Amino acid sequence: MRSPLGLRARSLQPSATIAVDARAKALVAQGVDIVNLTAGEPDFDTMPAARAGGIAAIEQGFTRYTPVPGIAELREAIAKKLNDDNGLEYKAAQVVVSNGAKQSIYNALMVLLDPGDEVVIPTPAWVSYPEMVKLAGGVPVMVDTQPNQYRLDAKALAAAITPRTKVIVLNNPSNPTGVVYSDAELRMVAGLAVSNDLYVISDEIYEKLTYGAEFISIASLGPEILDRTVTVNGFSKAYAMTGWRMGYAAANPEIAQAMSSFQSQCTSGASSITQHAALAALKGDQAPVEAMRVQFDRRRRYVAGRLEPMPGIHLDGMPEGAFYIFPRVDELYGKQVAGIEINGSVRFAEALLERSRVAVVPGLPFGSDRHIRISYACSLETLTEGMDRFEAFARSLADGR
Ligand code: PMP
Ligand code: GLU
Repeated sequence: MRSPLGLRARSLQPSATIAVDARAKALVAQGVDIVNLTAGEPDFDTMPAARAGGIAAIEQGFTRYTPVPGIAELREAIAKKLNDDNGLEYKAAQVVVSNGAKQSIYNALMVLLDPGDEVVIPTPAWVSYPEMVKLAGGVPVMVDTQPNQYRLDAKALAAAITPRTKVIVLNNPSNPTGVVYSDAELRMVAGLAVSNDLYVISDEIYEKLTYGAEFISIASLGPEILDRTVTVNGFSKAYAMTGWRMGYAAANPEIAQAMSSFQSQCTSGASSITQHAALAALKGDQAPVEAMRVQFDRRRRYVAGRLEPMPGIHLDGMPEGAFYIFPRVDELYGKQVAGIEINGSVRFAEALLERSRVAVVPGLPFGSDRHIRISYACSLETLTEGMDRFEAFARSLADGR
C-alpha cells in the first residue's frame, strides 16, 4: 500500500516546544512531582479589560463571521498602537489579524515565497520558523550567531545571502536567546535587505518584555525598510492571551492584501469574540503589562544568579528580553545518568526529567545541541525548587556521580 501521507507531511516535525510542554503537563496531571520549566506562555491571567471585552462580545451577539483581515475597530487600534509605540506608519488597511502570530508568520511566508526560495534565519531560533519555511516550499538557511554571542554579524549574514534568498526572519527579542537587537544591528540588516532586494519578517511578539535594552522595530528605520518588512506581533505574550489565539501582521498593501486573500481560503477571520477581547486589551489600562514585566525581570535575575555559579553551566550573556534563558550545558555531556547516556541536549533534558523531575526544552530544535532552554514564566517558588533540583543534577554530573 502506498503511504497515506504526502511528502510534506512525511518530512514535517511536530513543534518540539509544544510537545515537551504537553509531556510535562501530562506528567503533572498524573500526579508526578514535576517542576515544569518548558512553558512558552505567561503564567498570569488575562487582564480584566480583555476578559470583559470577550464576555461582552458574547453577550452582545458579536458571534458571527468577521471581515477576513479583522474588524475595522481592531485594525484601527492596532495601526494606532504600531504608530504610537513603534513609530511605524501603517494604516488600518495594512493590518491583517490572525489566529495567533504563528498564523501571521505562516501567511507571510506563504505569500512571499516561491518553491526553492531561501529564507535566512539567525540561529538559535524559534523552532517553528524552519518548519514553516519548508511547508511554504522554501529552503531555510540557518546562520549560527553563537560565535558572535548571539548578536547579528554582517559578514555571516551577507555570506548566507544568494540569488535565491527572498526573506530574512528576525525575532526581536529572541526566543530562545533573549537577545534584543540594537539600532546598529537592525540598520545593518535593513541595509542588506535593501541592497539585496530582500523582505524581512520581523517577529516582535516579545516586544513588551524587555529588561533595560531599548526595543526598536526594524521597519521604523526608514521608508525603504518599512516597505520591505512584514511586522508581526500579537496578544499572547504581552497580554497573557495565549489560549485566545490572536496575532497580527502589518505590511505594504500588496503583501497585506495577499495575506488576507490567503487567509480567506484557509481559516477566514479570527474569532469574533477574541477580536473584541483584543480591542479591549489595547484600549484598556496598560498597567498589568508593566506589572507582569517587572515580575519577569525579578525571575530572570533570580534564575541567572542561580545558574551562573553552577558547575558546567555557562550563560553567554544575560537575556535582555522574552522569558527564556538559554544556558550552555555541553561541558556536562559524556556521562551516564538513570541509564541514559548524555550525548546531547535531548538526552540531557531526558536525564534531568528522569533523575530530578525538572522539565526543560532541549536546544537541538532551536539549532544548538549544546544548550537547553529554561522558561522563567512561572512563580519564584517554582523557580526556586527548579533551580535547587537543577543544581543538584549539575553537581552530580560534574562530580561524575
Ligand atoms: N513567535 C515566537 C518567537 C514565539 O515564541 C511564539 C510562541 N507562541 C509565537 C511567535 C506564536 O505566538 P502566538 O501564535 O501564540 O501568537
Ligand atoms: N512559543 C512558545 C514556545 O516557544 C509556545 C509554544 C510554541 O508555540 O512553540 O515555547
